[in-house]
Amino acid sequence: MYQANSDRYNEMQYRRCGTSGLKLSALSLGLWHNFGDVDTFANYQKIICKAFDLGITHFDLANNYGPPPGSAESNFGKILQQDLKSYRDELIISTKAGYDMWPGPYGDWGSRKYVLASLDQSLKRMQLDYVDIFYSHRPDPETPLEETMGALDYAVRSGKALYAGISNYPADLAARAADILKKMGTPCLIHQPKYSMFERWAENGLLDVVEEKGMGCIAFSPLAQGLLTNKYLKEIPENSRAHKAHGALQTGQITPEIISKINALNEMAKERNQSLAQMAIVWLLKDERVTSVLIGASSADQLVDNVRSLGNMNFDRIELEHIEAILN
Ligand code: NDP
Repeated sequence: MYQANSDRYNEMQYRRCGTSGLKLSALSLGLWHNFGDVDTFANYQKIICKAFDLGITHFDLANNYGPPPGSAESNFGKILQQDLKSYRDELIISTKAGYDMWPGPYGDWGSRKYVLASLDQSLKRMQLDYVDIFYSHRPDPETPLEETMGALDYAVRSGKALYAGISNYPADLAARAADILKKMGTPCLIHQPKYSMFERWAENGLLDVVEEKGMGCIAFSPLAQGLLTNKYLKEIPENSRAHKAHGALQTGQITPEIISKINALNEMAKERNQSLAQMAIVWLLKDERVTSVLIGASSADQLVDNVRSLGNMNFDRIELEHIEAILN
């Protein structure tokens, strides 16, 4: 029987999500990789329990996480039942709909038909009555934004979700989505963009919109899928995402230029007495508009390493300039 660590709230920081009443742990755990049926139950059970023991209260899923699609939700549901059932009110569980999930015209994108059917399926797989945050996973250029936002609003009104969120929406659409939701009486809680030292589109307008509209922001792939760690400094190790056939990190992305940048960043992290992963995480959290960084992990030890980042969150001007010089 799993018993949560009684000190779990001592080290973690909790940051307010925009202007809402909700706080999220500064680090959240994503289940995109490492929690599917292709992975090992005992390992991901350990990761999830360790996350909670470290004060991570927020677990991020989507209908299609696996592989196969749906299996991350089913596996998470099993762990909730086995280990975390009595802690449900201490957890923020998120899921999303927006990418290809089942055949035919109603299994993808942003129609009300798809989005709401998908939420029902997600709840079933996770054996939950409600999720805390339900996202539109990506904008749908062929569906009126009012329809997709209307589906999120309905999800909240029907009690199947507590809050609504959007992911991968460019700044202008994010602003419109927030306005539509506000009019409907369901504020947009949060935006989930890809954001890391290597992926900075959010800085070109999106973070301003997030602030202006009172939304929170949760940065996904903050470690660039593992590139911003000590994993790929010399080679592509066997136990890495880039080495796995179903991993989304392609070996072609690990160019000599990237390797030289991560080695330079790694030297800097050493001077700060941090691992590169730790430095990459707090580099995002230095911006107060970033509510949480949404990390992935293939082992419980990686989580321990990443949460320790909170021990050194300050950067001086010279360090920040040095990082920019390496990245540019
Ligand atoms: P990261 O950038 O945090 O990459 C995670 C990977 O980095 C791990 O699987 C591991 O790789 C490696 N890693 C993590 N910590 C360490 C460490 N301390 N030392 C060495 N290596 C480490 O995030 P993800 O790309 O996994 O994305 C995180 C979450 O974001 C997803 O699970 C999902 O919830 C969300 N997401 C959302 C998307 C959207 O469209 N909204 C799209 C993509 C992700 P390895 O497995 O090789 O050990």
